[in-house]
Amino acid sequence: MTNTANCKYIKFFLIPLFLLACCLGGCRRQDPAAQISDVGFYFDTVVELRLNGTNDHALIDACFEKMAQYESLLSRTREGSDVWKINHSAGEPVEVSDDTAALIALAQKYYELSDGAFDITVAPYVTIWNFPDNPGEVPADASIAAARIHVGLSLLHLDGNTVTLDDPRASIDLGGIAKGYIADRLKEYLVGEGIESGYINLGGNMLTIGTKPGDVPWNIGIRRPFGEASDTITAVKVDDRSVVTSGTYERYFEKNGTIYHHILDPASGYPVWNGLASVTILSDSSAEGDALSTSCFVLGLTRGMELVESLDQVEALFITDDQELHFSSGFPKTSS
Ligand code: AMP
Ligand code: MG
Repeated sequence: MTNTANCKYIKFFLIPLFLLACCLGGCRRQDPAAQISDVGFYFDTVVELRLNGTNDHALIDACFEKMAQYESLLSRTREGSDVWKINHSAGEPVEVSDDTAALIALAQKYYELSDGAFDITVAPYVTIWNFPDNPGEVPADASIAAARIHVGLSLLHLDGNTVTLDDPRASIDLGGIAKGYIADRLKEYLVGEGIESGYINLGGNMLTIGTKPGDVPWNIGIRRPFGEASDTITAVKVDDRSVVTSGTYERYFEKNGTIYHHILDPASGYPVWNGLASVTILSDSSAEGDALSTSCFVLGLTRGMELVESLDQVEALFITDDQELHFSSGFPKTSS
């Protein structure tokens, strides 16, 4: 091809192609005043997406589609999911997706970091307690004791994408970490699509993208334990970070004055009763925040706070049953 022919080629094909790609990609989102949001129901909880600077609802639809896919991969109860296959593998190796393998590897990391407080093999207990569908029946001690020998992360092996549970009656539950991991993946997708401001709220697990328009930080309310959904005990200003809370009040029943809730002590099989009502973690990664909020809840105020203080870029708020607030040293407290 001659130089002139080259020029023509560029003019007639590449420039229009570039413009088309621009319009399909970034350009359609260059509307600073635009704002869209929508709600859905995934992972047994209400999810909400807010995107600023765009009118393109296809982005939200794509996120809902991804949530549906993650749910069919990671749900413990949905037949055919990766987790379901692992839990029904009768001791045989199971091939899982990259996402499931990545999540299990993360779960192993937080098991180590939390000294066993975060343990996805608590699933036999999770099945027995059956939150949130349990109408208020405290399981028999004997059934919890019988499950205990099938719990322990040493029963689980991950080799590449192959997962093996040594004990056919062992099982895993990713409920303590999956929403955070999924929020991170959704944020990656949206940022890749040019979104610079918004948030992903998966049942109260908040992951913010950038700041609000005008460089204003997001003000995230932290729920008053056992208060109305809109009742906040404090708030925290963040940009481009995750705010995840684990609380007894999220899934529980009350019997004879005792709150039986969904955060379980891997050592005993019973709900963790340590005077805490909730733990909120601020972090860059929402998977980290999710794993740590559950871990720190199980570890309790003293050991949980020590863990948070040992980590970079992680802050926490522990709320005790008496509604006292305990902040980590670098927590950006709201002045009142
Ligand atoms: P979260 O709300 O993130 O604290 O997660 C609580 C959920 O994680 C529960 O509903 C269980 O599905 C699961 N879970 C409960 N106890 C533990 C634990 N000790 N380690 C890991 N996952 C747990
Ligand atoms: Mg969690």
